Amino acid sequence: MLLQARYSATTFSKYMSTAPRLTIDLSALVHNWRFMKQKSGNAEAAAVVKADAYGLGIEPVVDALSKAGCKTFFTAMMEEAIRVRKISPDARVIVLNGVVAETTKTATEQSIIPVLSSIEQIAMWKEHGGGHPSVVHVDTGMNRLGLRMQEAEALSANPELLGSINPVMLMSHLACADEPNDPKNIQQLETFIQTAEQFPGLSTCFANSAGIMLGADYHFSTTRPGIALYGAEAVNNVPNPMKPVVTAEARILQIRRAEKGETIGYGAEQHLDRETKVAVCSGGYADGYHRSASGAGVTLRKDGSAGAMGAIAGHRVPVLGRVSMDLTTFDVTDVPQQVLDENQWLELFGNTIPVDDLARACGTIGYELLTSLGNRYHREYRGG
Ligand SMILES: *Cc1c(COP(=O)(O)O)cnc(C)c1O
Repeated sequence: MLLQARYSATTFSKYMSTAPRLTIDLSALVHNWRFMKQKSGNAEAAAVVKADAYGLGIEPVVDALSKAGCKTFFTAMMEEAIRVRKISPDARVIVLNGVVAETTKTATEQSIIPVLSSIEQIAMWKEHGGGHPSVVHVDTGMNRLGLRMQEAEALSANPELLGSINPVMLMSHLACADEPNDPKNIQQLETFIQTAEQFPGLSTCFANSAGIMLGADYHFSTTRPGIALYGAEAVNNVPNPMKPVVTAEARILQIRRAEKGETIGYGAEQHLDRETKVAVCSGGYADGYHRSASGAGVTLRKDGSAGAMGAIAGHRVPVLGRVSMDLTTFDVTDVPQQVLDENQWLELFGNTIPVDDLARACGTIGYELLTSLGNRYHREYRGG
């Protein structure tokens, strides 16, 4: 009873709360999936929804993409696959990280397809898979998961073993697809083609988002786009063609005036060189606004790099001082007063600040930002 009361007490109305908010545009998500489907040519476009659909929420994302016609979903973990199965009873659900002894039963009962990446996993699926479908992962140069070439060859020469694990797809993964000119891409492609020839008639799956952009040679039977669906950059150093999907905003708790020569925040490292209007926002590294987003001039930025920027109604504003757990301060001195009067929210990333720009300021990638947003956000889903 007490527990229940405590649980419901945390379910504030969004108007009462200082929690940051995420707005997720499901129409943009669907647009991006259709774009990747079109780029995939004759191949089937699946969707990678691991890590809670890159932090956006498995349920709404799978629901929107299913309605748009997506029939195959990849997750990393069995728990994620179960969530996909609940939303989409007919979808093909594939678990990239495969099965362990404890999850084979769930996989067979819920028609969840494991990716088998080692001889040991293949032996286990032979014993416990009951002839249910599987995906065979071969390593073509990533050295992460997947059968080595000799192991793949041995498997292809063993029809009895092959039959017992019922493979419906052969897959591999590119190490350098985000760098289109890296010679590793072609090497992996050639290795994958050679391996696929040993498994005649088996459906093939090779390209992630960046791999799809490498062209038709890389598409095979099914493509596996992830990050591009969520609007972030897949390929380095080219304009990002995807529509932004996520906007993260923090509530402005107060706008305070600080004098020239004063310092701001933990460590008192940031010295103000002018009279400054400071927007104090409710959100910080506990919300995935990484500490490495801190402003220019703090010890964290010994390299002299610029800090991250936020935005108010399209006006870009720099982070001041260190990002703390629940609060972040921004320099809004140059934002017109009327704009400040009218806006309670400051964009952390979204339409004005691309998620990848924030990621670069933090020394990371959009993938890591999206998947570390934390669970304090109020999430609003639009469109779809
Ligand atoms: C995460 C992942 C993908 C999706 O990659 P993106 O770069 O997000 O498109 C595809 N395949 C495998 C094996 C993955 O781990």
